[in-house]
This record gives sequence, C-alpha cells and structure tokens, in this order.
Amino acid sequence: MTSDIFRDIFLAFVRVHLLYHAAEGRIYGLEMIEELRRHGYELSPGTLYPIFHELEAAGLLTSEPETVSGKVRKYYRITEAGREALSQLRPKIRELVAEVLGQEG
Ligand SMILES: [Zn+2]
Repeated sequence: MTSDIFRDIFLAFVRVHLLYHAAEGRIYGLEMIEELRRHGYELSPGTLYPIFHELEAAGLLTSEPETVSGKVRKYYRITEAGREALSQLRPKIRELVAEVLGQEG
C-alpha cells in the first residue's frame, strides 16, 4: 500500500526531528507532538511514544522522569551516540535536499 510507504518515510523524518530537537535541549512527548504538528505531522501519543522508546533502546536518547504539577513527565536528552548519528545524517539530508529540491550544494 502506498500509504504504508508514505508512513514509513514520514516516520523516518520524525526520527530525525526528534534527534535534532533532543540535541537542542531536553524534550518530552506532548511538546514534540505539538512541534511536529507545526511541521505538518499529525501524530498520536500511541505512534510517537514507541518511537521515543525505540530511540532510547538504540542508545540515541536517554530519559529521566520529572514530576511536573503532580504528574510524572519523561524528559529525553540526546546521547553521544545520538549526536554521532545526527552528524552522520546531516550530510545525507543536505545531499537529499539538494537533489530532490534541485538545489546546487
Ligand atoms: Zn522540528
């Protein structure tokens, strides 16, 4: 199904967004759902949270719980491996954008 392929591609972009934002500062789920909505992605917690867990299991993010107004919120930060992954992705993204959007490097 075409829609499954689009979904795979979008979720790859979402992973890059999460790594990028976690490199800028600590992030949490609801905040990222709103941020990604700003970018045009409509993601439910049921879709996004497993991606956070996957990135954490892969050692690219690390999490710590913090109680905010009586509720436990899980904050994620990027790890050294995550920074390394992001720095390997950047030239790939640059090249992809240049080719797909027809811009000269
Ligand atoms: Zn973003």
